[in-house]
Amino acid sequence: MSRVYNFSAGPAVLPEEVLQEAAKEMLDYRGTGMSVMEMSHRSAAFETIIQDAEKDIRTLLNIPEDYEVLFLQGGASLQFAMIPMNLMKHKKADYILTGQWAKKAWKEAQKYGEAKAAASSEEQNFSCIPDLSELSASGDADYVYICENNTIYGTKFHTLPDTKGIPLVADVSSCFLSEPVDITKYGIMYGGVQKNIGPAGVTIVIIRKDLIREEVLPGTPTMMQYHVHAKAGSLYNTPPAYGIYICGKVFRWLLDQGGLPGIQKKNQKKAALLYEYLDDSRLFSGTAAKKDRSLMNVPFVTGDKDLDARFTAAAAEHGLVNLKGHRSVGGMRASLYNAMPYEGVEALVSFMEKFEKENR
Ligand code: PMP
Repeated sequence: MSRVYNFSAGPAVLPEEVLQEAAKEMLDYRGTGMSVMEMSHRSAAFETIIQDAEKDIRTLLNIPEDYEVLFLQGGASLQFAMIPMNLMKHKKADYILTGQWAKKAWKEAQKYGEAKAAASSEEQNFSCIPDLSELSASGDADYVYICENNTIYGTKFHTLPDTKGIPLVADVSSCFLSEPVDITKYGIMYGGVQKNIGPAGVTIVIIRKDLIREEVLPGTPTMMQYHVHAKAGSLYNTPPAYGIYICGKVFRWLLDQGGLPGIQKKNQKKAALLYEYLDDSRLFSGTAAKKDRSLMNVPFVTGDKDLDARFTAAAAEHGLVNLKGHRSVGGMRASLYNAMPYEGVEALVSFMEKFEKENR
């Protein structure tokens, strides 16, 4: 067996211990004589799996009782519609545009109400988070929306906007459970799990209970109403059961890493190694504004497209894979999610040093 260092932006690397444990339990999950994939979502065994998963994510994020944790489907992209359909009481929301994912969410919300672009860094090709010190959220907005970590551009909100009491909705797909957060600052925190937590197919929505309303926009499908899922404990219909089981294992793994403070330290150390090298390099440079750099996604370029392509191909031959950047930024992108070991980043940096010497 030979595993590579997988720098994919998502679906992405998962902890090896989790994969091994799942492999051991594949044919006979704890004496049930079947795989988790084969069991009823109403069985006692699965009930324990989903309840334990919820308990552990609550512990990790210190989620108070007035928040609901929902395990849903449809990816982060379905939330782009679910959020306005469920929250737009006054049909008004403010969006902060920091990249393509925030823009997609904003465009979708325009179908349901007045979605205002309250700030944008598009003119800077989304290489930074816009200055929000002067942000004046519309007084009657139903929520303020951000994409907290911008997967494509490698930027992150290191300070949350001051929404003056208006619920903050955050897409945390690419920074989920990567550092401690104060969940009480959010009305909704949500993300697809396929970057930091598990296999594609599960979306976790953590929502303050007072935002779960039965009075949703007319025509909202049953499956897109938060209150339906909340009432059913995420078992209104067949949930993505195997995905939830893996997420549960990742939550346990994170608890073993010292919880979110523990994983944050590791993430900081990994990112620092790569950023320090990039800042000193005469060949490669990071594309995100330093003050807004993400710990999770690190885009960088040489400035020469052909050389970028040569680098990515040569790296792959050395077991450093999925380093090609998103087409809108070009160059390379290394995603350093929770499960990327420090050794992977060391291997990447030492390969970059060698490549730099040979190509300067
Ligand atoms: N938001 C962010 C920040 C993302 O990175 C992505 C996927 N790369 C999405 C939303 C879309 O997620 P999904 O594919 O789960 O709909």
